[in-house]
Amino acid sequence: MQRIHLDHSSSKSIHPQVIKIMMPYFSQKHGNPSTIYSQGHEAKEAIEDAREGVASLIGAKSNEIIFTSGATESNNLAIRGVSYRNRTKGDHLISSTIEHMSVINPLKYLGKKGFKTSYIPVDRYGTIDLEVVKKTIDNNTILASVIYANGEIGTIEPIREISEIVHSKNAYLHVDAVAAAGQIPIDVKKDNIDLLSLSSNDLYGPKGVGALYIKEGTRIQPIIYGGGQEKGLRSGSENIPGIVGMAKAAEISSRNMNNESRRLRALRDNLITGILDTIKESYLNGHPTMRLPNNVNIRFKYIEGESLILSLDMEGVSASSGSACTSKTLEPSHVLRAIGLPHEDAHGSLLFTLGSGNEEEDINYVLSILPRIVKKLRKISPLTPKSLLEDT
Ligand code: PMP
Repeated sequence: MQRIHLDHSSSKSIHPQVIKIMMPYFSQKHGNPSTIYSQGHEAKEAIEDAREGVASLIGAKSNEIIFTSGATESNNLAIRGVSYRNRTKGDHLISSTIEHMSVINPLKYLGKKGFKTSYIPVDRYGTIDLEVVKKTIDNNTILASVIYANGEIGTIEPIREISEIVHSKNAYLHVDAVAAAGQIPIDVKKDNIDLLSLSSNDLYGPKGVGALYIKEGTRIQPIIYGGGQEKGLRSGSENIPGIVGMAKAAEISSRNMNNESRRLRALRDNLITGILDTIKESYLNGHPTMRLPNNVNIRFKYIEGESLILSLDMEGVSASSGSACTSKTLEPSHVLRAIGLPHEDAHGSLLFTLGSGNEEEDINYVLSILPRIVKKLRKISPLTPKSLLEDT
């Protein structure tokens, strides 16, 4: 049975052209850019070209891009690097309640080191409350870190409006654009963003590579010290195959974005409408229109997202519970809690993230099996009202 992958936010396959361009850098082109002979020059040139490729995806200049091991590192560098470097100006940091753990945990760490942190709430669609941003920011604020679009509920944030508020107090704006990049156009100059994190795999590039855009003139210090690579901000021998691969992935994403996003949006809407129309007591999580083209997050009353995933898995479909519910904590996703869902509704949520390989027949297949799966699970759930079982 051929599997249907509808969990692109967890993992994407690498684009064949990306694999092809990476290959020589594992063997014949293995130079280290820090060396002064010709292979070193070749490697240096490859990185500089790659910088250009990534920069053009977000409207940046190539000297404003540095490569990292992924968006976790980019987020850490942006948040910790800016906070420490600007501590003489202030010690207040702002973020939101729907950030990725690679933003939340560095902020928590800084909180323990004496910084003050404020988390802006979101409304029931997951949109950051601009009025609270205005009330929370003050002359002591040095950095705001917000997500461009949330990969779990799909909501796209009002970045330009947030940027205006943040800059009115001369603070820096860092944006985690991992989920948004390659799906919706991003222009760091138009949005006036100071720092922006990217992850290669989310663009169909290799895992373990990322980038941080740092606007020229931004005061930041490294979090890793060593041989001084990447302008001293990210020491360590560069991952040349990964960097070259990420740039190629960014270039392909830029080129295909309009068509691919239009295609996915249509599939997304068919899936959403198909589910909501055929399954009673199912509801869309996240914003109905300001939404990533590939995101479908639905909550089903009276059942668990995990049971749905396992049932779908047995029928050849990969999806996600849409929760950061780790086996360690069993806590439902903080994002779903932040949009106001009670525990049981957050647990009953299912996330499909569409991507390059998905076609209409995949959506039709899911729509053909899901009502039966939901019905079966509701039948064995003690929470399901009898009337609903009789109804469906
Ligand atoms: N931010 C967001 C929104 C993410 O979804 C992820 C995971 N892809 C990360 C940061 C961390 O990225 P990476 O796995 O490249 O460290």
